[in-house]
Amino acid sequence: MKKNLLGYTLQRMTDEFVALGQTKYRAKQVFGWLYQKRVMDFSAMTDVSKDFRAVLERDYSLDLPKIHTRQDASDGTIKLLLEMEDGAKVETVLMPYNYGDVICVSSQVGCNMGCAFCASGLHRKTRNLTSAEMMGELLTMNGILDQWGRRVTHIVVMGTGEPFDNYDNVMDFIRIANEQLGLAIGARHITVSTCGLVDGIRKYGHEGIQINLAISLHAPNDEIRNQIMPISRAYPMDALMDAIKDYESNAGRRVTFEYILLAGLNDSLAQADELADLIHHYGVFAYVNLIPYNEVVEKPFKRSSPSAVKAFADRLMRRGINATVRKEFGGDIDAACGQLRSKVVTGDEGK
Ligand code: SAH
Repeated sequence: MKKNLLGYTLQRMTDEFVALGQTKYRAKQVFGWLYQKRVMDFSAMTDVSKDFRAVLERDYSLDLPKIHTRQDASDGTIKLLLEMEDGAKVETVLMPYNYGDVICVSSQVGCNMGCAFCASGLHRKTRNLTSAEMMGELLTMNGILDQWGRRVTHIVVMGTGEPFDNYDNVMDFIRIANEQLGLAIGARHITVSTCGLVDGIRKYGHEGIQINLAISLHAPNDEIRNQIMPISRAYPMDALMDAIKDYESNAGRRVTFEYILLAGLNDSLAQADELADLIHHYGVFAYVNLIPYNEVVEKPFKRSSPSAVKAFADRLMRRGINATVRKEFGGDIDAACGQLRSKVVTGDEGK
């Protein structure tokens, strides 16, 4: 089996090449070819010796996923269903914000977290994605953006899967994307979103890199959170907030709370007050990102009205909490998280 070099951090590539008798500089050269010159062919790496190029050809690959389905929305959103070597399918989305091109990366094939409102969890996790496969999501999107002279500028690990349930591969992927000699995507342009795995949150505070952390909160108390997020039973609010405080002091960074507004469930003004109280009570320095719910046919939840969303945001602001409403993309394609994949995978299962 050839090893996919696209999953290697510069450090790992250096260690491995040195062990093969090369100089430390060799990995820097190869990294530059792959990510700066975008040459995906070992034989074209002309400043690498012929002998070592032959070793690379023999033992390593530079495989990218195949594009199974592509959807382009009228607002410029691009959604891809990618097929990995073993046939596993994952979604990747590009959202053209005014400040840059943001890719939403999947971290697992399916998801085990079981959030009641989410389409990704309709199919259980079959495996983790490797760092090479996540890099494959990004490079495939760059390949599409190329025609307009654009590049992915921001990464959110908010696609299918729970990133902290695949911690090491996700961190390797981020380090590769962030590497100065490679794509050089700034750490502050990279965000990992977790449903609240507290061990991961604590560990993430010690990475020594200025990446952002988002927490899917979605409820102002344990009672509602237990109804929609099974993970809340393992890690109740107290444990979660404790880990976040720990993260804040170790990383020196604020977190963002994601909060999906679900009509009649968590979107009242009393609940906005409760959320403000919760954040003040724990003394967490958080932003709140309010997310209009993308309805999923298999799920009973309804999105809150625009006026309820605005009233909720205004109440938080009045209570001294920095709140924003997430801009929506891809209204005319299968925009909801995991929706396109679910359609295709369910179809496959029926065959
Ligand atoms: N497992 C991680 C990352 C993937 S989900 C996490 O839970 O954070 C990314 C975000 O999308 C989460 O906040 C998730 O709750 C939210 N989400 C899931 N389904 C959604 C939907 N139908 N509409 C809007 N947001 C959704």
